[in-house]
Amino acid sequence: MADTPLPPEVTTLNIPPHRPLVVVDVDEVLGLFMRSFEAFVGVHGLEMRIDRFALFQNLYRPGETTHVDVSQGRRLFDAFFACDPHLMEVAPGAAAALGLLAEQATIVVFSNAPAACRSTRARWLAENGLAYPLVIGVGPKGPTVAALAARTESPTAFVDDLLPNLDSVEAEAPEVHRFQSVADERLRVFAPSAPERHPRYDTWNELAPAIARALKLPGR
Ligand SMILES: [Mg+2]
Repeated sequence: MADTPLPPEVTTLNIPPHRPLVVVDVDEVLGLFMRSFEAFVGVHGLEMRIDRFALFQNLYRPGETTHVDVSQGRRLFDAFFACDPHLMEVAPGAAAALGLLAEQATIVVFSNAPAACRSTRARWLAENGLAYPLVIGVGPKGPTVAALAARTESPTAFVDDLLPNLDSVEAEAPEVHRFQSVADERLRVFAPSAPERHPRYDTWNELAPAIARALKLPGR
């Protein structure tokens, strides 16, 4: 992925150098993606069985024991983003918690959603009290987070549900405070974690104070 260009927002976003930075993922961090995707695939005659931490290997035709072809899952994933992200519920407490953090830190939303979904995704954020700048990326998140973090002299925090993204940020920008959060209660038990390297808080009630402490936000 070394050849993948960084998203242009890495240089164009307004990131004040003397303000801490919080870079936060969308699916399963700000939004209850799996629950919404489950409802969407249901309309297409499939059911989701959350018995592992995977996206496309959890989709079945009712009554069958082998998951549907991964390519079919991927097509539905793209279709979900293209037409119906409004279905997605916000993770409990996310908007209020980020609102408080935003009083003292710059907030940037960083999603690996399909690039074609930028406008629907931005609209979902705005309609749910999360109108922060949106960066759409591809592949491991480390290089982009490193470039964003380099824009401020203050500390940076990064939140994601996926261990590979957290590992990537650790490799590219080890000074960034990393946090894992898995919003879907059924998915939590299956999510690979490394809490000794990336502290894990699955609710915003726990996560927001931990971020504030790591960033040494005054009065928090
Ligand atoms: Mg995610």
